Amino acid sequence: MNKYDDKYTKCPACDSENIKYFHADFRGNTIYKCEQCKVQFMNPVYSDEYLDYYYSQYIDINRDVDTVLQDKYDLIVNDNFNAIEQVVKNKGNMLDFGIGNGDHAKLAIKKGWQVSGYDVDCKATESLMQRTGIEIKCGNFFDLNWGEVKFDLIYANQVAEHLKDPVAYIKYFKSLLSDKGCLFIAVPNIHSTSIKLKFLLEKLKLRKNKIGKYYDAEHHIFYYDPTSLKNILENNGYEVVISRNCAKPKVERSRLWLFLSNHVFEKFYSTSTFMIVARKS
Ligand SMILES: [Zn+2]
Repeated sequence: MNKYDDKYTKCPACDSENIKYFHADFRGNTIYKCEQCKVQFMNPVYSDEYLDYYYSQYIDINRDVDTVLQDKYDLIVNDNFNAIEQVVKNKGNMLDFGIGNGDHAKLAIKKGWQVSGYDVDCKATESLMQRTGIEIKCGNFFDLNWGEVKFDLIYANQVAEHLKDPVAYIKYFKSLLSDKGCLFIAVPNIHSTSIKLKFLLEKLKLRKNKIGKYYDAEHHIFYYDPTSLKNILENNGYEVVISRNCAKPKVERSRLWLFLSNHVFEKFYSTSTFMIVARKS
């Protein structure tokens, strides 16, 4: 099996030739950065064959989530939907793109959304569909037929960092969204405060163990920050309405703490993941 494709000579997100070596991780993966749209990406990237093999063992839908962990998930999902519902006023059809184990979809249904789902692995989705009753399609996304349905929301939580060609999806989503439809994307922030510090220590040679572990390059191939993801969305016909840190799962927070976190700390501190809510423009 070839683990990698041929090297990119252009940015896989915006086609710019202005791409440069940026970092390498302890696994032997090389990371490039596009000077045009600012996104970072694995170059050379894993082959389809390698990724198929990796994802055939990836989704663990039958795992038992303990209650404490479930509360933390709920906190994140609630925060995601607080942002979404500031922008999308009618809770209509939603596509959970990369539905995974269905945790987010189940909460969305409770909130009043009509949820359909998509994931790559048909075996996993079949079992999830039986357990939850949610209609879930699988296989090659671009071959699927959604009929006349238009989505008011396409929800892509922690997915875009796994995609080899995220822009193809972002463009295609526009044909599935209703006129005022929105796209929600949450991804790891490669410029989170913690990663910035680790990167600095690595460059100063003060951190030598598991260099670049934070790229999570065993399965992440694109590395975004709010600027690069905004550039990509705006280049492809979206208007960014909200861009902010995702909630950090922590125990008990006061309303004051949450207010400070959302309005003050936000400017100085980037958590490990961020979200963008974008409207089709
Ligand atoms: Zn680019």
